[in-house]
This record gives sequence, structure tokens and C-alpha cells, in this order.
Amino acid sequence: MDGSTGHSPYKQSKMTCDDQLFVVSMVPLRLVLKDGSAVIWANHTPSSARFCRPISIQYIRESTSLTAETARNMEKEIDELLPLQSASATVSYELYMTMVDGKVVNAVTGTPSSQTCSICGATPRAMNNLEAVSTRPIRNLQYGISTLHCWIRAMEALLRIAYRIRLCKRTARDDQEKKLVEETKQEVQSKLRERLGLRVDEPRTGGAGNSNDGNTARRAFQSAKEFAACTGVDERLVRRVHVILQAVSSFYTVNSAALADYCRQTAELYVELYGWYYMPVTLHKLLMHSATVVEWCLLPIGAMSEEAAESGHKQLRKFRLKHTRKDSRLHAISDLYGYLLVSSDPLVSSIGASRRRRRYRDKVSQLLPETVALLREPELPSSNDEVYGSDSGSDTSSCSDDDSDSSCCSDV
Ligand SMILES: [Zn+2]
Repeated sequence: MDGSTGHSPYKQSKMTCDDQLFVVSMVPLRLVLKDGSAVIWANHTPSSARFCRPISIQYIRESTSLTAETARNMEKEIDELLPLQSASATVSYELYMTMVDGKVVNAVTGTPSSQTCSICGATPRAMNNLEAVSTRPIRNLQYGISTLHCWIRAMEALLRIAYRIRLCKRTARDDQEKKLVEETKQEVQSKLRERLGLRVDEPRTGGAGNSNDGNTARRAFQSAKEFAACTGVDERLVRRVHVILQAVSSFYTVNSAALADYCRQTAELYVELYGWYYMPVTLHKLLMHSATVVEWCLLPIGAMSEEAAESGHKQLRKFRLKHTRKDSRLHAISDLYGYLLVSSDPLVSSIGASRRRRRYRDKVSQLLPETVALLREPELPSSNDEVYGSDSGSDTSSCSDDDSDSSCCSDV
């Protein structure tokens, strides 16, 4: 579930808010035999909007109370789901609420601040005390770690450090210190724009949020050496965070013990290098809890990310603008819902899926050797087993360069 902003406002009666929608959706991942002996169908592109089925759409602004209430209703509906009976088979369902971002997780779990960890409850002051944090009780693993947002927030965390690297202090107190931080920020932004073509921390034209999106973050981490040179952040840390992000976003099974070790070493390196800056909450979740979340997940954690819903926002705006009747809000929303159902139909979306995957395979970045070392050795597949492919086989995937879907995340 997520709020979708930037929709065209129309002159329709009884309409108080039509430039923002609150959407709940689901992505079917796979159909397996009850004993797990065979996979009958698998979604090879779980991050694509092509399989993102709408559940509800509301003309309403996203808020904490709305999110919490919707989550409660969804959990109730999930509990009440009945198996689908037919003459030849009975299909029962398992649903996981992992397609959520940090704001939704905080609302659902009642986490009081966006700076507090929703898993262990650690506050910013406690984040750099790794021993104390690692012994805290953990909860709320069922919401995953929102891997798409992890890319953006991890990049932003490194940028915050870069802006303060000359000051070596978390907060600029007086005017002189504030000026130094501002000058460093402008210098870093200018270098990133010149050398990598990246626009970071710049306001987005005509809307909320800024220019930090999924594509910017991916490109920044892919050029770890250049990014480190532009920002002054230690290259080892940039590369290690990139490896962890690749591992938790991949559609392969991750070796949780190896990931836990790697994350722990990375967290220690962070504290050694930048102990003066409390570890931001997303980096903390990634380094301290991603291995535990991986263990909890039934499928590869990358397949359970919120990317499909985020990718769907751009489609939502386009469909509402071009494929709905505008004479009444009822017509507009029912046309929109119908169009979303058709565009995400699993049967229709499966047509040509392998051709699309082949076409986009070359565009997908290769896993780093360190990332491959964190993956679990594959088991010998049975004849019917499906293997998740690391692709973004959709014209609308947020991996495409001209896509602004994941930029929706920047205002979350
Ligand atoms: Zn935590």
C-alpha cells in the first residue's frame, strides 16, 4: 500500500482531493503444490508493474491513521480468505505484507519516529553502539526491509556524511559551521553532476520530494570509485553497502550467515570511520537486521520488495489521464480500476515475457563477485522447478533510464 501523488485534478462534483490516490495492491509470486514438490507457475518479474494487481483505490491523501486502518482491514481480510475450490484442485493462499515503505511500516507498527528502528526500537543515539543494538529483542520482521527504499536512503546517508565530512560533527551549531556544510554540499553536488551525471538532493520541479530516486542511487553505487572520489566517503564502505544492497535486491537465495558476517563487518567499518554520525535508520536496518529478515522470508528477499507498487504509480497517472471517462468521479475510478486489472492480468502479462526478459537482460547490472559469495549454493532443480531470473522484463520497470516511477519514493 502506498500513496500516489501528482495526478491531474479534474472539475468533478463531490471531489475534495483528486490529485492524490491511496492504492493497495498485490503481486502474485508463485503457485506451488501443497507439499512443495513442484512449482506450477512463477512470476519471473516480481518487481514489474505488469503483475501488480489492484485491491483498492481511494481518492484520499496518505496519512498515518489511514495507513494503520487500511493495514488492519487487509490483515482481517487475509485471515478470512477461503481456499478456492474447484473439481480438480483446491487453491489456498499465503499473503505477506512486504510491499510497503518505511512510512507505512512505521504507521502499522506504531513506531513513534521515522528515526527509530521499527524492528529493534533503537533510537539514533543507540545506533552506533553495535554491541547493545545487536542484543535488543526484534519484532515486525514480516514487513521486510523495503529494498528499493534502502538504495535511496543508503545513498542519502552517505551524502549526509559527505556534507559534514570536513566538520566531523553530526550537527552544525553556529553560522560558520553551517556555511562549511553548505559549501561542501554544493561542491559534492557539482562534482556528482559533472563526473557521474547525477542530480542529488535537488528539489523536484512542480512537486514534492527531491531528485533522489532509485535510478540515481543504483548508478551512484555502480560507480563506487567515482562516487567515493566525488563525496570523500571511504570507497570500501561505498562498495560494501553496494554489495549488501545487491544481495538483498537479488532474486537468488541469500546465505543469511554469510550476509550477517558481511553486514557486521560493514557496520564496524562504519563506526570506525564515521562514529561521529549516528547511523541513519535505513542503514542500521540494512546492516543489523537484513540477515534476520532474509532468514524469515519464504522467497528470495528481492522478490518481496515494494518496487512493483512504486513502478505502478507512473502507470496509474497515465491510465487515469488517458483511459478514464472524466464526466464523473465514479466513472473515472471504475475505468481506472478496470484498466489496471486488464494491464496486470497474469495471463496477458505472461505473453511475450521471455522475449522481454531477453531484451532487458543486457541492461541489468551484473552482480559483484562479493555479492555472488553471499548467495547460497543452488540446489539441483527438479524437472518442474522454476528459477527466478534477475531481470526487469518490463517496459515499465524502474530500471529504465527514462522512468520516473521510483522517484515517487523520494517523497516518502
Ligand atoms: Zn534495529
